Amino acid sequence: MFEVVSNDELVPNIKRISIKAPVVAKKIQPGQFVVIRVNDEGERIPLTHADNDPEKGEVTIVYQEVGKSTKLLGTLKPGEYVLDLLGPLGVPIELKKYGIVVLLGGGVGIPPLYPKGKALREYGNHIISIIGARNKDLLVMEDEMKSISDELIVTTDDGSKGRKGFTVDALKDVLKSKKVDLIITVGPLIMMKNASLAAKDFGVRIEVSLNPIMLDATGMCAVCRCTVGGETKFACVHGPIFDGTKVNFDELIRRSRTYLEEEKVALDLFNKQNGVKS
Ligand code: FAD
Ligand code: MG
Repeated sequence: MFEVVSNDELVPNIKRISIKAPVVAKKIQPGQFVVIRVNDEGERIPLTHADNDPEKGEVTIVYQEVGKSTKLLGTLKPGEYVLDLLGPLGVPIELKKYGIVVLLGGGVGIPPLYPKGKALREYGNHIISIIGARNKDLLVMEDEMKSISDELIVTTDDGSKGRKGFTVDALKDVLKSKKVDLIITVGPLIMMKNASLAAKDFGVRIEVSLNPIMLDATGMCAVCRCTVGGETKFACVHGPIFDGTKVNFDELIRRSRTYLEEEKVALDLFNKQNGVKS
């Protein structure tokens, strides 16, 4: 059992939860993730760490309430418990001096960039962060990203804050004006796909953090398989970070929609049981 320390709404449908998990908090590295099960009937929810405090023994995660299990996580109050928190899982990013590093994040993909940027800056990298959301009210962790960035570019689809348009448009402009050494991106699959196409055009290395449907997260069930460079890889143990120019994004997008019907049934039932109108 792992105690919830806080569970606060950042913007509608996106929450930040801190959980007491001293061993994981000490060991987890940028790029890794955990799997949470809220209760013994619960699904396994893979979630990337957005921060960790080894002294307090806390792991922080930012999650979007998209369906039954993430909404259930959202009901937990400080002092309550999740049944399991498994981790750290996955391969961390390589920490070294690259030079100019662009962090590109969309929506709930922004928080996992924070520990990566914090660590890479300590290695002397120049950090340019490009973060975006549909509108200004949905943008998360701007202040935190500012604190670890040498340059911060904000985009919103509707122009209500920063530059109007997509993060990838801003990325292309940065790539035109600077010699970027590495791009790290977390966000919607379509954003990571377009960023990878741009990176390929400019000949810049890009690392994407994949979030396919995942079950056991230890390399046994093969549910999170994806095609990278023509080979089958498991996002849980070989990733979740891969060279974006080699990822078959169209296959991933198709497979992420496999259980839409079942997910809707589960959410409708959850809403009914909890008196939520859907
Ligand atoms: P559902 O209604 O069951 O599903 C909604 C959609 O979420 C589905 O259509 C599917 O595309 C996806 N999904 C469903 N089940 C899973 C599953 N077991 N694994 C992965 N995707 C699933 N989300 C965050 O908000 N923050 C994060 O930091 C984060 N990190 C992730 C790291 C990894 C390595 C992976 C694989 C996923 C991550 N996700 C993250 C996605 C998150 O796990 C899913 O949104 C969540 O499991 C959905 O569960 P649900 O029951 O609420 O939604
Ligand atoms: Mg689910």
